[in-house]
Amino acid sequence: MKITEIHISGRVQGVGFRPFIFNLAEEFGLKGYVSNDELGVIIVCQGENSEQFFNEIHHRKPKSSEIIFSEIKETETTEIFDRFFIKPTEKNIVVDIPLTPDFATCESCETELFDEHNPRYFYPFTTCTQCGPRYSVTKKFPFERENTAIEVFKMCPNCLAEYQNPEDVRFHSQTNSCPNCGIQIWLIDNLGIEFKGSNKEIFEKLAKELSKGKIVALKNTAGYLLICDATNSEAVSELRKRKRRPTKPFAVLFSGISTMNEYLEISELQIQHFKSSESPIIVTKIKEVKDLAIEEISPNMNSVGAMFPYSGTLKLISKTFGKPLIATSGNFHGSPICSTTEEAEQILGKIADYFLHNTLEIQHPQDDSVIKFSPKHQQKIVFRRSRGFAPNYFFAEELSELNKEKNKILCLGGDLKNTFAVVPNNHVYISEFIGDLANFETYERFENTVKSYQKIFNFEPNLILSDLHPKYENQKIIKNLWKTAESVGNKKIQHHQAHFASILGEKKLWKKDKVLGVIWDGIGFGTSTEIWGGEFFLFENKKMERVAQLENFTWILGDKMSKTPKISALSVSGNNEDLKFAFDENEWKIYTNLIEKSEIKTSSIGRFFDAVAFVLGYEKPLFFEGEPAMWLEKISQDAFEKGTELIDYLAEDTVENIPTKKLFLKLLEEKKSGKSAGEIGLNFHYTLIKAIEKIAEGFAVKEIAFSGGVWQNALLVDLAIEFLEDKFELHFHEKLSPNDENISFGQLNYYLNKI
Ligand SMILES: [Zn+2]
Ligand SMILES: [Zn+2]
Repeated sequence: MKITEIHISGRVQGVGFRPFIFNLAEEFGLKGYVSNDELGVIIVCQGENSEQFFNEIHHRKPKSSEIIFSEIKETETTEIFDRFFIKPTEKNIVVDIPLTPDFATCESCETELFDEHNPRYFYPFTTCTQCGPRYSVTKKFPFERENTAIEVFKMCPNCLAEYQNPEDVRFHSQTNSCPNCGIQIWLIDNLGIEFKGSNKEIFEKLAKELSKGKIVALKNTAGYLLICDATNSEAVSELRKRKRRPTKPFAVLFSGISTMNEYLEISELQIQHFKSSESPIIVTKIKEVKDLAIEEISPNMNSVGAMFPYSGTLKLISKTFGKPLIATSGNFHGSPICSTTEEAEQILGKIADYFLHNTLEIQHPQDDSVIKFSPKHQQKIVFRRSRGFAPNYFFAEELSELNKEKNKILCLGGDLKNTFAVVPNNHVYISEFIGDLANFETYERFENTVKSYQKIFNFEPNLILSDLHPKYENQKIIKNLWKTAESVGNKKIQHHQAHFASILGEKKLWKKDKVLGVIWDGIGFGTSTEIWGGEFFLFENKKMERVAQLENFTWILGDKMSKTPKISALSVSGNNEDLKFAFDENEWKIYTNLIEKSEIKTSSIGRFFDAVAFVLGYEKPLFFEGEPAMWLEKISQDAFEKGTELIDYLAEDTVENIPTKKLFLKLLEEKKSGKSAGEIGLNFHYTLIKAIEKIAEGFAVKEIAFSGGVWQNALLVDLAIEFLEDKFELHFHEKLSPNDENISFGQLNYYLNKI
């Protein structure tokens, strides 16, 4: 007897694919079964119109699914089916498909949350086949309840009935639960005294305490958030003090699009992204400050990181409270996000007045993802790629071409803004944002996350890719996890070359003849006496060559220089006397002397931005890397929007490298002549773009690719598009962040393309 076999690979587990196939097969009157397997989903069916059925799968597939590969073939069988059914997955298979990320709560589940006649009224973990946590609850794959943290909650008869009913939205929903059988929440104060009440009463109590200015540690689907009233400046200041985060902007949770509209300038594009299954935080321009404690939320900025309530917990608290809330990762500045009751009480005990805990055991804690659209050209810029995106990355086609040896690869990434990437099978998985590995807890999180990937994929690397930096923390993992480190190959790749490889990989530019890479960031190891950061590479004939740079200036005092913009300014200026006002006698003597004598040089554009910000009036101490650059971007953006005339400060020059000292002294002169900081700042940005143009013309390239943290500067991106797009094809990161989060993927691409 003839039978049809269909194989589908891609993001097809944890997205409601099997229930969808079941219903479609019924509709087509087919008999047979659907099951998860190593490569995704297998369908075996008998019936007349299986070809049509196959086509229809592609047309009507579930919203969050993604088909990478599919095939249909006919075989013979003696088996006869009398119905269509979902066949349980075979035990102990190791899957080879993309790992499904977390999904925001869908509209239908949201309706149930607020319907007082619904059994899931005020139940924060209301989910269906189309929404809810996936990666954050995954212990193993395939995505079956027994392989997730939901396993411990046995479905009650009602939930089970939904699970078994093909007509229900929760048919075969692996995360299905309700208040009777599912995840429980409880509220305690920081003395450990529990508030007793229904879910609704708990949220009402929380809202009451928030309106008194209290700070709450609230467990969300992928980790704890710290929340407080965003209209209460004392509460927000208190949170800053307790969290030891003096100036870095906080995100604000709004109850929905209509509230956002009252405060923010949001576009259709932004609304789409807020309502998407990834639902990232979006840095958005403020329309009207209204009652927001803006000086405490986002000091000196005219934008705010806006959060849409993407989970049941966030929907319930924001609706019940009725005003915008600060929502920031539950950690101390620089440490990983807390995800267990113990961690939260121990670490956040010094910050929070109340804890809203729950009984879900988070497997993969993740921060919220953050994106921005450049104001003028709406270019998407990823600031942090985490919940909703990680660790999913579609790269199977490229791997099948480039990784013929089927190497099992671990890419360690960088030490700052770390992510790692693994190739355990035919896919690449890029981890969520992990953070700065100099922090001990963050390093532990890094190592534990690598271990969990080993478990999920039954994975041992035969090749490890890492940064050229001789002292990177992340190298420790090699000895810690593989005692016989020699058995694992270790290849080292230069930081900025990895950045360039990352954008070449993301935009599939490997087969191009010639691409100029403008790789600009803070710092990366170049040579033993050179710290790189403002580099131009030419990719030609499969070779990558450094062809231009920011002219070197002296690097002194390591970390202190990164934290003290005036030192960068002094160094770039070549000990210019005009800067004497900023130093006392002793400092002047020490710093100028060091600058004269130090043999370490840098081309860091990050430090160059610090220097420029300083000379234009940025005088505050600095609390996070890039803070002066953010200030400079803001004042320059304001000047751009006012229509300030654009001047290229290097108009007369032929530019082969960017002349840091010359440009800096020009800015100093402009400042002395009384021009406004915004005007000079804008023209500094503009001059850099014109310099890129001249360098690109010098090498006769048609395409330019951009990577490195400086490309989070939305003004620079807009100016590049505005003034270079006519002459060149431009490539910016859109899926990955331009910052060091993309190093791991870059290392992989550099290696695979055998540069
Ligand atoms: Zn749903
Ligand atoms: Zn139930």
